[in-house]
Amino acid sequence: MKVTDHLKQANGKTLFSFEIIPPKKGKNIQELYNNIDPLIEFNPPFIDVTTSREEYIYIEKKGLFDRKITRMRPGTLGICAAIKHKYEVDTIPHVLCGGFTKEETEYLLVDCHYLGIDNLMALRGDTMSHQKYFEPTKGGHNYASELVQQVDALNKGSYLHDVIEVDNKPDFCIGVAGYPEKHIESPSLHSDLLRLKQKVDAGADYVVTQMFFDNQRYIEFVTKAREMGITVPIIPGIKPLAIQKHLQLLPQVFKIDLPQALIKEVNKCDTSAQIRQVGVEWAIQQSKELLDFGVPVLHYYSMGKSDNIKAIASELF
Ligand code: FAD
Repeated sequence: MKVTDHLKQANGKTLFSFEIIPPKKGKNIQELYNNIDPLIEFNPPFIDVTTSREEYIYIEKKGLFDRKITRMRPGTLGICAAIKHKYEVDTIPHVLCGGFTKEETEYLLVDCHYLGIDNLMALRGDTMSHQKYFEPTKGGHNYASELVQQVDALNKGSYLHDVIEVDNKPDFCIGVAGYPEKHIESPSLHSDLLRLKQKVDAGADYVVTQMFFDNQRYIEFVTKAREMGITVPIIPGIKPLAIQKHLQLLPQVFKIDLPQALIKEVNKCDTSAQIRQVGVEWAIQQSKELLDFGVPVLHYYSMGKSDNIKAIASELF
């Protein structure tokens, strides 16, 4: 079922959902199930599964290093299919521009449709770890808006090289990313919002935001988006801070601000368990305020560990 239909069915009640990262190659899917199992009691209507960019690895041969390109994590679509059938929930693969030609994207979309996947997140994708700036793949898309256009065209039965009329056309519900504190490459929040509007005008049905720790940022973002004519649901993404290192890592990787009050609470802690608890309490408070604001979904970034998400959800759902 589409995310937008889940929201209609919820009739104004806030839903719980979360995102998982496929574990690194060599691990077993059971590890993923062990993290999903404790969250199923909160009835997530959908679960997002991220996709990681390919990476370079260096293999030593007689003192010289060969560079090989590889994917460090197993394929998102297979994981989506496994979770969908095990838990009977909708799963949402993250589909990237980076690393894929348009033809490869089309194959992926056809496979998604075949497996009964009704939703996907259309994203440009992170840069590869050695790159400073995003470099589009030859024959691929430059921006998420172009990927949205490709999915929208497929929804209308228009494939890349032919128009094929099929009885059972895909009808993907398309999610895109939004940035309450603006995307790092964008010259201003206003111009980033204009780009978000482009994605919505191209066919995106809903937005999921980057993590934020100050609800005011989300509220202002939604207000500005509405003023600009973006009317689709804007789902807040919430990440509980979990370790001391997040004080540096989260601003560095996600280009977000951490509130001084949170930094102060973390710095008071003596143990890692206390820090994890501070993160949980902050996220509970954030979630309660967002519930009052009437958000459609509280969407949590689990980053592969679910104990803290369970502690938060137990207080709210
Ligand atoms: P875009 O919407 O294409 O925007 C990228 C930048 O280009 C922005 O600064 C935008 O303002 C600008 N821009 C857009 N269109 C144009 C144009 N026509 N001309 C000039 N500038 C333009 N990354 C992953 O690798 N895997 C994941 O699974 C993943 N999941 C994510 C989930 C969520 C909810 C979020 C918020 C992010 C996720 N990301 C993921 C990160 C995302 O891929 C990066 O933030 C990426 O740098 C931007 O992706 P985007 O889809 O927002 O790009």
